[in-house]
Amino acid sequence: MNLSELPIGELLNLHGFDCSCGKKHKTTLSHLEIGPGALDNLFFVLEKYQVKKPFIICDKNTLKAAGERVYDMLNRKDMEYESYVFPQDEVEPDEYSVGQIIMSFDPSCDFIIAVGSGVINDIAKIIAKASGRDYLLIATAPSMDGFASNSSSMIQNGVKVTIYTVCPVAIIADIDIMKDAPMLMIQAGLGDMVAKYVSICEWRISNIITGEYYCPQVAGLMRAALEKCVNTASGLMNRDPQGILSLTEGLILSGIAMSFADVSRPASGLEHYFSHIYDMSKLEKGTPGSLHGIQVGIGTVLTLLVYDRMRFIKPDREKAIAHIDAFDYKQWESRMKQIFGKNAEALIELEGQEGKNEKDNHLKRLEAILGNWGRIKEIIDQGLPSSKYVEDLLKDIGAPTRPRDIGIQDDLTKDAFLGSREVRDKYIATSLLWDLGLLDQYGEELIEEIRTT
Ligand SMILES: [Zn+2]
Ligand SMILES: [Zn+2]
Repeated sequence: MNLSELPIGELLNLHGFDCSCGKKHKTTLSHLEIGPGALDNLFFVLEKYQVKKPFIICDKNTLKAAGERVYDMLNRKDMEYESYVFPQDEVEPDEYSVGQIIMSFDPSCDFIIAVGSGVINDIAKIIAKASGRDYLLIATAPSMDGFASNSSSMIQNGVKVTIYTVCPVAIIADIDIMKDAPMLMIQAGLGDMVAKYVSICEWRISNIITGEYYCPQVAGLMRAALEKCVNTASGLMNRDPQGILSLTEGLILSGIAMSFADVSRPASGLEHYFSHIYDMSKLEKGTPGSLHGIQVGIGTVLTLLVYDRMRFIKPDREKAIAHIDAFDYKQWESRMKQIFGKNAEALIELEGQEGKNEKDNHLKRLEAILGNWGRIKEIIDQGLPSSKYVEDLLKDIGAPTRPRDIGIQDDLTKDAFLGSREVRDKYIATSLLWDLGLLDQYGEELIEEIRTT
């Protein structure tokens, strides 16, 4: 059995797949309608889940994109429902927005329908979890890969957090609706997909260096979806339905792959930490930013610029040992505070549990790197395209590719690069560079390169 050869619908098999990696791969997403005209099957989905009275969540834009049509369909069938439309222009994924819905939630509703993508989906997952109702997402834009994931990216007490929530039981992705999404959202979707080049490779590299769990089946599934997207990416500029379909399928599959693996590894690596740190800085210092997928696309170009150089590394044991011998905890702590501000304390605590800066742990990883450098280099050479290749893909559809394109200063990008290995307990390119005593040098070189190219 090869997961990457199965049609997406079959991956939703409720019993799951017994995999040679030792896991049973399952997702709680149990129904997917995807294709042109998919919204016509709304009642089929509502009947499947025996819905009597849904609660519908929209914002002003998604009301126009699909919400009004949903109301209309329900009215014509005389189906009872309640709804809430966010009145604000920008809906933030925070306590206020969640509170707005809770204050108008009708407890006689037995099901939730959210019409939207990124933020609306994140909020609806929280409402579904809190209310114990099942939830259908009617997607309106192929802008990010959180459709089928079981977490919400939120702002809590002014800080960016990931909250584990629930996955929708069903998704309707009508390509006729999604192809009319704002172009920036389509560009963002491709940005979130090209990230998978990096995430899959870093997952494999981490498996070799740290022994972290890895599943070649799930990685293969992600890789196949990525290739399908890349092959049809040029049509996105003209909203070509086949391109939008492959992109949407790839983004939904990313969420399924994350559920299958029980970790975010198949879908996010170093490129995502550039975006996370841009978001943190935006919240704390008001620096500019863009959609998640746009930032991730830029982060992918930056990450590939780094890997373009990493291919030529000749690991040097003495340099690596000298670096860990010179490690100064106080200095590290003050750098953390400078980069992460309000978020620093929690991350310093995380390192207290993780111990990645401790000598013994470093030495173990270093031996694994030195002993497996040939394999690591092969994974980089075979799995990663050049930065230019991905930058051209994004440029071809008019997407921003450099931090300056969205107003982000080089200093912040340098902080993001240096701080990336601290954000989560996850082994990524910058972890490897740190282990080899090359992180600071690579930071200087990356900034020099984006200044001059
Ligand atoms: Zn597996
Ligand atoms: Zn993402």
